[in-house]
Amino acid sequence: MPEYKTEPLNVPYVSGLLPEGERNRRVALTSFRSSGAQGRIPTREVECYECGKRSHVPASAQTAACVHCHATLNMADVELNADSRNLTVRTLGNVMVAPGAVLSRLSIVCRSMTVYGRVSGNIRCTQELCFRESSRVEGELRARRLVIARSAEVVMPEGVSVREALVEGKLAADVRAAGVIRIGREGVLRGRCEAADVVVEPGGQYIPPRN
Ligand SMILES: [Zn+2]
Repeated sequence: MPEYKTEPLNVPYVSGLLPEGERNRRVALTSFRSSGAQGRIPTREVECYECGKRSHVPASAQTAACVHCHATLNMADVELNADSRNLTVRTLGNVMVAPGAVLSRLSIVCRSMTVYGRVSGNIRCTQELCFRESSRVEGELRARRLVIARSAEVVMPEGVSVREALVEGKLAADVRAAGVIRIGREGVLRGRCEAADVVVEPGGQYIPPRN
């Protein structure tokens, strides 16, 4: 590693620019330091679940501190099964609910969540919320993208807020979507829709409320 000493810097002119020699020296030092090991650690961008702001964290870290609000951010993936007792999860990772699990009063904030069991509670996903099994989900539901798989019949009495939705199974819910709701070939959506567009593929059904 090259050695350098800090020395008093005299700039002879009142100017925004450093003398050329000094400028080159500083550029060389800066680029040497940024090409060191620290510059090569892969990072990823995450959104803090406490303050909602984005920051970069080391990709392999399991926890990090939000640079904006200093909250400790958990980044581990979580699997919930029939024996899970801790039903409150805050993570920037993904959550999976195992087949056979029946969990109510969940409080989940995560990246993506895939549900093979039956769940109820408040769920917020910054990415995808996917139901692969039938559930009646009592609680507040928010996700960037909602997916109801072909095998699933899902009821959401309190509705769901998303950017977009794909219904390939059966969904009974009021859906608020900033973007498009797509109903697949065997999909059935029963409920009120607020969306930029509702696309019903041949064989799919949208059944709005009668009144
Ligand atoms: Zn934060």
